[in-house]
Amino acid sequence: MTTQEVLRAYRFVLDPSESQAVLLARYAGAARWAFNHALAVKQAEHQRWRTEVQALVDSGMTEAEARKRIKLVIPSKPAIQKAWVAGRGDSRCAVDGSCSWWWEVNNHCFQSGFIDADAAWRNWLSSFRGQRDGRRVGYPRYKKKGRSRESFRLHHDVKRPSIRLVGYRRINLPKFGEVRIHNSGKHLARLVGRGQAVIQSVTVSRAGSRWYASVLCKVQQEIPQRLTARQRAGGVVGVDLGSTHLAVLSGRLRQADCDSDVVEHPRHLQQSMERLTKAQRALSKTVKGSVRRVRAARKVARIYHEIAERRATYLHGLTKQLAENFSHIAVEGFDVQGLMKRPPSTLGEGRRASSITALFNRHLMDAAPGEVRRQLAYKALWYGATMVVLEPGEPVNRVCSRCGSQNPHVSVSVRRFDCWDCGFSIGRRHNAAQNIRSTAQRMIRNVPSGSGETENARGVAVRPSAGFGGGRAALKREDIRVQCPDATPRE
Ligand SMILES: [Zn+2]
Repeated sequence: MTTQEVLRAYRFVLDPSESQAVLLARYAGAARWAFNHALAVKQAEHQRWRTEVQALVDSGMTEAEARKRIKLVIPSKPAIQKAWVAGRGDSRCAVDGSCSWWWEVNNHCFQSGFIDADAAWRNWLSSFRGQRDGRRVGYPRYKKKGRSRESFRLHHDVKRPSIRLVGYRRINLPKFGEVRIHNSGKHLARLVGRGQAVIQSVTVSRAGSRWYASVLCKVQQEIPQRLTARQRAGGVVGVDLGSTHLAVLSGRLRQADCDSDVVEHPRHLQQSMERLTKAQRALSKTVKGSVRRVRAARKVARIYHEIAERRATYLHGLTKQLAENFSHIAVEGFDVQGLMKRPPSTLGEGRRASSITALFNRHLMDAAPGEVRRQLAYKALWYGATMVVLEPGEPVNRVCSRCGSQNPHVSVSVRRFDCWDCGFSIGRRHNAAQNIRSTAQRMIRNVPSGSGETENARGVAVRPSAGFGGGRAALKREDIRVQCPDATPRE
């Protein structure tokens, strides 16, 4: 075993008292206020620049020249915060200001709001300039009460930690005080006690009707140096990720289960989806502003949340099994363009309620392959396995997995692959999984094993950075988003 420092999130369900729940909402409200305040400052500056450029254009200058002439400096956190501190006032000594109640909540609420506004602006700008992969990011919008996710982030001095577990059943939030947690903090408390984890920050958010605290820690993760017998027996597996079936494998996921080479989307998702449709239909029949509407909306939110939690549990289970049962897990190269082109939805058309569901459904399914990759990237490491990412554009769909001849006319809509040369007929995605496996085996063979670690080509074929963020960065993002109803992180 060697250890490696990784960022991991430990998620707790909070059990606040009534007055604490009110205070949590205030904290989140302060973060929202700060975000909107910072965004307003940025937008005002942007608007001022636009107006000045337009004035020059009106006076006969070309637009390109006018844009060059007028400097645009969008204020970011340090400047915004400085101005805010100067003008916020203080209601304790009756000094009027833009935010005289600031002292009632933790100062970090404001800081996290300012930082998030910086990020939102940056994301929009890089997307606008075409420097960002994935879906287009829109112009940053204001956060609305009741609409946007309620959350705030607190930091502390790591040397004098004020974010800490009190016993196994309470968490102390700086300035806020101690909040009871539903699940046990034993695992994390012990890690911290042994010096294997250092708490960095906590993000508190409301999802459905519950409050969660996601505690981000630097953890000394133990990395196994040897493959287990099970991993050696499993060898290399090719995984074809998709959205009709979540994954098709080149071999069985579980040795005892002969159908386990095809991983379906979870069935309970479909069941929840029916409940969701029903709840949404009920919501659409209520009168705006009525108590019933509030109640119906709360129910819809809760079901959404349940689905998201279940889906996360399911994906975590799958990636854990893959990392535990195989020495190498091979997936296709990340092709952002290909991801953006989606086949038209075949799900629920017609009624509006069901089309909303279909949209959500599609959103879930589409996100799943990327999520699986992201989890594999770090779980492979945790379990001593290796993730192999093929070069993007490898023709795994068009090649016959038996004789290797290419069939350029294979369409994604066809379910079977028929070889023109040898007459081999196989499910299209099974064929792809086999090809992913054999391509990966070729890659592994070509890797010179300098350290004598012939069984484990770790660190050479692993390319977690290909298309979905660098190793550390990917971990960090993952950890912030980990959906974990219990204190121990899912593995
Ligand atoms: Zn063939």
